[in-house]
Amino acid sequence: MSASSVVVLGGGISGLASAYYLAKSSAARFQKIILLEASSRLGGWVNTTVNEDGGVFEHGPRSMRPAGVVGRNSLELISDLGLADSVVPVLRDHPGAKKRFIYANQQLHQLPSSLKSLLTRRPPFSKPLISHILKEPFIKEKILDDESVHDFIRKRLGQELADYVIDPLCIGVFAGDARQLSAKSCFPVIFNPARQHGSIVKGELFGKKDPVPKDSCALVQRARKERWPIWTLKQGLQGLTDTLAETLTTKYGVEIHKCAPCTSMEFTAENMVKISSEDKHFDADHVISTLPAKVLAAVLPDEHSSLAEILNQIDSVTVAVINLEFEGAVLPEEGFGYLVPSWERSKLLGVVYDSCTFPQHDRPGPGTTRITCMMGGHWFNDLFGEADGVSPEFLLNTALETLKDHIGIAATPLKSLVTIQKDCITQYRVGHSQVVDDVDDYLTAGQLPLMITGASYRGVSVNDCIFNSKKTVEKLLCR
Ligand SMILES: Cc1cc2nc3c(=O)[nH]c(=O)nc-3n(C[C@H](O)[C@H](O)[C@H](O)COP(=O)(O)OP(=O)(O)OC[C@H]3O[C@@H](n4cnc5c(N)ncnc54)[C@H](O)[C@@H]3O)c2cc1C
Repeated sequence: MSASSVVVLGGGISGLASAYYLAKSSAARFQKIILLEASSRLGGWVNTTVNEDGGVFEHGPRSMRPAGVVGRNSLELISDLGLADSVVPVLRDHPGAKKRFIYANQQLHQLPSSLKSLLTRRPPFSKPLISHILKEPFIKEKILDDESVHDFIRKRLGQELADYVIDPLCIGVFAGDARQLSAKSCFPVIFNPARQHGSIVKGELFGKKDPVPKDSCALVQRARKERWPIWTLKQGLQGLTDTLAETLTTKYGVEIHKCAPCTSMEFTAENMVKISSEDKHFDADHVISTLPAKVLAAVLPDEHSSLAEILNQIDSVTVAVINLEFEGAVLPEEGFGYLVPSWERSKLLGVVYDSCTFPQHDRPGPGTTRITCMMGGHWFNDLFGEADGVSPEFLLNTALETLKDHIGIAATPLKSLVTIQKDCITQYRVGHSQVVDDVDDYLTAGQLPLMITGASYRGVSVNDCIFNSKKTVEKLLCR
């Protein structure tokens, strides 16, 4: 195949990683790689503020998992980019790794994190959790092709696990409602083997294992040897997107245009694509869209309105992120933080104890405590109305009042930063995988020079976004 040109839409982690894998794949294969980003900054939801005093506030993702194929792939990328020395791991025994709490029935409860803790009865559970786990393989009810995360866990492991563990977990990952989110799309690593073997426990025991390849990079080997549960970067996770952007321009000559929203797309008779960004136009052999599904739907040409209709089924929720810094030690106990189950009807989704997990991000000098409150998500509009109409002061005061009520922090913060992140987390509702298959079928049948990836489709974590970008580029290379 002769050299061709590619336009990548979106400069979040998915767009930057797509451009990186394209550039690395073969300089001769792609004559020109152009990336268009609507806003004035790259990184998308990966967004770190380093305060003047050196303290770090993460407004989006703050940690990544090293485990599994997707986790290892990100570490390989980190290594490739020369960032291995910037990695800050959390070790297994650190409270930031093993102590996760939920706030339920007016108090914090530590969730089980070891085999021993499964064997004893601990509030809020009425029985040791092991009793539910031992019964699960004998439950006759068939696992459906897809069902809500809450139903899946309630039917197999009981109401308490669904209410106290899975409901808050869905809030922690998706800011979403476990009764609507899809078990198949949100937790495929658990759901798919469970469905295959007829049981979660059997799926875990007999499902296909995923051995670490012997030729993995030193960083992957280290993460495995030291059994890191999570990691970040010294400079915050934006260090990854900043380095990617820098590498793309200086090493690979990728053309990055900021403040360049894709406003329309046209497929030509020669099977090329013409991308318009306001008054600028870009012709290319291929386009990789990493735009949120609804944004892509809005720029498609009229003749593909049925594709737009499918994409419009995928929507996202808004989260208010409130970064706070207090003087001294204010936390009731060390840990990763706490989540609030939806049935508590709290205004807070959860609180991350940033200083405990990553003290390296605290400002140098006298001790302070950084925490992050998350609010809204699936319930944003019910609680606060339209995102454009709510004031940051109101959100800050609500967060502070709720913190005081939950964990007794009554002090005035030294610093606070409120960001209202509109439509920031895609909701994979029951049936989502069918919607994604329908998009794929449409693109394959039409042989369009358009490929899609990004958090709207097959995983919202930064690891998933990077891995799926790589897969998309590999697919393009096979064309
Ligand atoms: C508050 C929060 C906390 C999170 N915490 C974690 C975590 O701890 N760990 C983890 O792994 N993941 C976490 N995530 C998830 C993860 O950060 C996101 O899923 C991921 O960053 C999405 O990346 P993306 O590139 O697919 O999409 P985006 O970041 O949305 O990037 C899309 C880009 O496209 C641009 N764009 C939009 N319209 C156009 C247009 N018309 N033309 C051109 N460009 C356009 C946007 O400006 C944006 O830059 C979190 C997310 C949020 C919001």
